[in-house]
Amino acid sequence: MIIEKMLEGICPKCGNHHVGWALQLERYQACAKCGTGLDIYEGGKLVAKGYSPFTAEKYIIGNPPTVPSKEESPDAKP
Ligand SMILES: [Zn+2]
Repeated sequence: MIIEKMLEGICPKCGNHHVGWALQLERYQACAKCGTGLDIYEGGKLVAKGYSPFTAEKYIIGNPPTVPSKEESPDAKP
């Protein structure tokens, strides 16, 4: 079996090196060490920027800053 072009993934942050066809898959395109999206190389050429959950757009669901707590003062009526 001859592999013509091996995919390589190099972490731009910590330099961690990943090799393998699994780099085609988004879930394997993040650095195992620091979670940064890898630079994907094919045959020595940069072909893609890896996907990383850390660089992906984040949707932050805003919580109301203060939630007034309803405290019912117990009316102790004899
Ligand atoms: Zn890294």
